[in-house]
Amino acid sequence: MRRTHTCGELRSSDLGKEVCLQGWVRFSRDHGGVAFIDLADRYGITQIVFDPEDLPAGTDAQALADVMKSFTRESAVSVNGIVRKRVEGTEDARNNTGEVEVLITSAELLSKSEVPPFELGDQKEGVLPSEDVRLEYRYLDLRRTEMIKAIEFRSKFIHLARQYLESQGFLEIETPMLAKSTPEGARDYVVPSRVHPGTFYALPQSPQLYKQMLMVAGMDRYYQVARCFRDEDSRKDRQPEFTQLDMEMSFVDEKDIQDNMERMFAYIWKGLYGKDLQIPFPRISYMEAMERYGSDTPDLRYGLPLEKLTEAFRETNYGILKNIVAEGGIIVGLNLKKDIAGEKIGRNDVDRYISLAKKFGLGGLTWMRVENGEVNSNIVKYFTEENKAGIKKVMNAEEGDLIFVMAGPWKRTLEGAGLMRRQLAADLGLVPEGTFQFHWLVDCPMFDVDPVSGKKDAFHHPFVLPYDNYNKGACFDILLNGNELGSGSLRINRPEVQREVLHMLGMSDERIEENFGWFIKALSYGAPPHGGIAIGVDRVIAILLGKETIRDTIAFPKNKKAESLIDGSPDRIDDDKMEELQLMSLAMDDMDFDNMDVEE
Ligand code: ASP
Repeated sequence: MRRTHTCGELRSSDLGKEVCLQGWVRFSRDHGGVAFIDLADRYGITQIVFDPEDLPAGTDAQALADVMKSFTRESAVSVNGIVRKRVEGTEDARNNTGEVEVLITSAELLSKSEVPPFELGDQKEGVLPSEDVRLEYRYLDLRRTEMIKAIEFRSKFIHLARQYLESQGFLEIETPMLAKSTPEGARDYVVPSRVHPGTFYALPQSPQLYKQMLMVAGMDRYYQVARCFRDEDSRKDRQPEFTQLDMEMSFVDEKDIQDNMERMFAYIWKGLYGKDLQIPFPRISYMEAMERYGSDTPDLRYGLPLEKLTEAFRETNYGILKNIVAEGGIIVGLNLKKDIAGEKIGRNDVDRYISLAKKFGLGGLTWMRVENGEVNSNIVKYFTEENKAGIKKVMNAEEGDLIFVMAGPWKRTLEGAGLMRRQLAADLGLVPEGTFQFHWLVDCPMFDVDPVSGKKDAFHHPFVLPYDNYNKGACFDILLNGNELGSGSLRINRPEVQREVLHMLGMSDERIEENFGWFIKALSYGAPPHGGIAIGVDRVIAILLGKETIRDTIAFPKNKKAESLIDGSPDRIDDDKMEELQLMSLAMDDMDFDNMDVEE
């Protein structure tokens, strides 16, 4: 028997129909011989009733009751029956099918389920088992409505993105998974070659170099829903493999790429929510983001800006601040206005923030309150009149305000102050729920320079077009609610510039040639000006759905320790496979037996 309807389909308009439904037994209960089953599938839940008093003539009630007994929870079953109205007062408003039920006339067990390790019905928070159990039995976890919704939402998002990009002439082109390393600042996952023992492919950290070569090839507009692989420490909410909506365009400037992204998001928004998304997105420069919000991914859904107090303390008797200014550091203040915070934060809370400051990498935290028109704390005695006047003016300090002052080296202090700002906003309930605030971070530096060693790292990656004498990069980030959704840039399209940037990153000519010679060669055959961007799909879905972790947006994610619990990978491989790949003998070759310490 084939199903006639899904479990989410039947309505009052179907009353009296003979139907066949197939799905999973989510829940069953027996009310003195009358049995009820919640039959579930991806589309919904329909109530099935077995009523021995109410069966078509000639039905073997006992045989049917026996079949139903075999319907253990989460078994796959098939039922035939007649759609009827539910008894008044027992309608289920949570389900679209809640006005009707199916009076069973025959049934079949399609495949029995073992007792599931956890309850799959809609349940209150906290009833779920640990995430590791959910991941080990992901095929069951994915039967839950919440997971089904997330997977459907993700599919719809990607579909809408594809629709938009295709309508704009983008070609979906697959780039290789087995390739040479494409650096994006993480370690590579590598794959040994059997045919060429001792050599390895790298799984792509992104399709960056391939998409650039597609521009050299004249493809003009490319996109891909691309799997990327990065071997990173699992401190953040990252996955070893994740998905990017990756694209590249030729003969464009930064604004073209940004406009195109905004229109894509507006299209997706309309498709998902039926609403217009406000475009263009506001832009904030890297400098402003850092100095005003202490982050290159500032959350701009709330205020609480940092104010710069360095000038106000150029002359002071307070030794710590005096030294910091003399060493070229920065002093910033956060004004917790009386009405939103000043009064809510007491002495004990301040102590908690002082200890948090250390955790956030700050040297410390100085605080003061405005009382009787004066800034007041145990250190103001070291302040000059100008210092005090400066604080009042810069911080716009009014009676009852509480002011936090943080000082030290530029980057560390701003980043620490940014974390403090986020913490305070969360503690004080300043983060609005259910709002989505997109932003562009623009005017970014080309390099991250270590203040001590002077060593340069690429701010994004080494293929960004530099300008302003290599100080700035034509790169930008797209941000949503204080999270980076993705980065984009114009790219270097001239070989000599590419070589120079790699040099500046500390690479020798030989290393450049060995690692990137093949790519620089491509740039030397008329590479057009080009640029692009990649959006982290897992991340954007997680934010839009309010999920705490991207794992809840991925069908089969790895756990926090980069393990796949469902199949037990990563796993050892058999010795004969190791031999085939010559991995053992290669490792042996590398060992220096003569100089080996042998334990007695
Ligand atoms: N390849 C970059 C990344 O993965 C994105 C881009 O520059 O297009 O972050």
